[in-house]
Amino acid sequence: MSTGLHDSILAELAQLAPAHGVLDAHTHLGADEDGRSLASDTLLTALEEVGSTARAVVFPFHDPERHPAYRVPNDRVLEWSRVSDGRLIPYCRLDPEEDPVAEAERCLANGARGIKLHPRAQGFEFAHAAAPAIFGVARDAHVPILIHAGRGMRSMAALVDLAWQFPEVPLVLAHAGIADQGVFATGFAGHPCALYDTSCFGPQDVVELFARVPAERIVFASDIPYGRPVGALFLAMRAAAYAGLDAEDRALVAGGTMAAVLDGAGPPVAQRPRLARVRPASGSLIRVAGYLLMGFGAVISSPPPAPARALPWIALARAVCRDPDPGAVRCALERIDDLLVAAERLITAGGEDELLAIRQVHAAATIAATEPLPP
Ligand SMILES: [Zn+2]
Repeated sequence: MSTGLHDSILAELAQLAPAHGVLDAHTHLGADEDGRSLASDTLLTALEEVGSTARAVVFPFHDPERHPAYRVPNDRVLEWSRVSDGRLIPYCRLDPEEDPVAEAERCLANGARGIKLHPRAQGFEFAHAAAPAIFGVARDAHVPILIHAGRGMRSMAALVDLAWQFPEVPLVLAHAGIADQGVFATGFAGHPCALYDTSCFGPQDVVELFARVPAERIVFASDIPYGRPVGALFLAMRAAAYAGLDAEDRALVAGGTMAAVLDGAGPPVAQRPRLARVRPASGSLIRVAGYLLMGFGAVISSPPPAPARALPWIALARAVCRDPDPGAVRCALERIDDLLVAAERLITAGGEDELLAIRQVHAAATIAATEPLPP
C-alpha cells in the first residue's frame, strides 16, 4: 500500500528514526461522532509504515455509543488490543460525569495501561470534582493519563495545579500542549513526568516544544486517523534532528521514553531544552511554511476535506521556490518544489489519490519548518 509520501521522505525517515522501538503515543480505534473511524487492521497497517515492530497506545474516539461511562467503546479497544500480539496498548477513556472511577478500575483490571481524558469533547474542566479521584486511580495503578491539550480549549492552568498534587502520575499532554504550551512549559518545569506528544498539524509547534521543554519529555504521536504515523514520525524526527538530537536521543522521542513510562521505569533524566528560543531563520522557508499551512487549513476548513482548496496556496509556495537567488536554502526549496509538483498532479488528477496530496503538502511544510540552516 502506498504511504502517499515521496521516496526521498521515506529514505530520510529511515535514516532519522530507529529501526525498532517506535511507539505511537496517541491513536484512536472505533468510531467518532464526527464521522471518522479507524479499524484495528488499518491501524496496524499504518504502523507497519514506520517499522515492523512499531506499537501504539490506543483509546476510543468520541464514540456515539459512549453512554454509559464509555463502557462499550472501552471494551472494544481492550479486545482489539488483546488480539494484537502486543502491538496495541489500550487506555480507557473516561467521562467525569459518568462514574469515572469505577470505569477506570474495571478497565485497569481488564488490561488497560493508561487513561485518556478529553476535556473539550466531554465538556469538563480540571476543577471538576471527579478529576482528583481520576488522578488518584492513576497514581494507585501506576499508569499515565493522556489529556487533550489542543484546539478548542480555554486556559488549562487548573490542570497544572491538579497535576502537581499527584506528581507521581505521568501525564501526556496531547498535541504538543498547544492549548497552553507556554503555561505548561513554565508550570511543569521540574515536574518528574509531564510529557508532550507531537501530534500536531503545525510543524513549528513541535519545533517550539524543543525550545521550551526537555527533549526527554517529548514523545512521538500521530493521532491517527486525524494524522498518520509515517508523516507524524517524519515531523517528530525532523524537529528532533533540527534541535540537535543524536540517534540515541531521537530513539527516545520515537518511542523509548513512552515505553519506559508505560513499563513504570519513568522517563529519562531531563536535560535543558535543546533549542534557543530565538533562532536564525530563512525568510523564504517561513513564507513557504506559512502558505502551505494556509493551504492545509483551507483543505480541512469544512468537511469533507477538499484538496483542491490548497491549490492557490501551493502555487504561492512554488513561487517562493522558483526564486533565482535562493541563497543558502536552495536545496530545501528544490526538494519542497518537487513535493508540491507531485501534490498538484495528484490533486488535478482527482479521485482517491487526491487525499494523498495533502500528505505531500504537510511533508513539504515540515521540511520548511525544520531545515537546518548554515550558521
Ligand atoms: Zn486524539
